[in-house]
Amino acid sequence: MESECIFCRIVDGEVPSVRVYEDGEHLAFLDANPRSEGHVLAIPKEHITTLDELGDEEIAKLFVVVKRVAEALKERMGAEGYNVVSNNGEIAGQVIPHVHIHVVPRYAAQESRAGFESVLPVDRKAKSRLEEVGARLKIQ
Ligand SMILES: [Zn+2]
Repeated sequence: MESECIFCRIVDGEVPSVRVYEDGEHLAFLDANPRSEGHVLAIPKEHITTLDELGDEEIAKLFVVVKRVAEALKERMGAEGYNVVSNNGEIAGQVIPHVHIHVVPRYAAQESRAGFESVLPVDRKAKSRLEEVGARLKIQ
């Protein structure tokens, strides 16, 4: 059955993505509209709408994936820090109704030291380098 959900279609491979981590229950891939170079989305493969609908064990495992991504961003991309953000519910700005955790690397060259909302909008250069960044970040 074909899903309407873009993230379920990415999980199924119907929609291409640059994958950086995958296991039986999770997928982490580069955001196609990165806020900074190496902006990753970590998701459970199962279609679940918001974080609170995940079981305690599932949420813990999802955040272990977030940690692996953060480690890779620091070690391989030279990120000095990162923002972890998840919008839950339309009123909170959730666009895709499938739980996703943004891991947005922050680099010294970026001017702002403030929160996620201050990160510059879509970086065209970052978008053109998705494949390259994905290969660099690939987590075994
Ligand atoms: Zn889905």
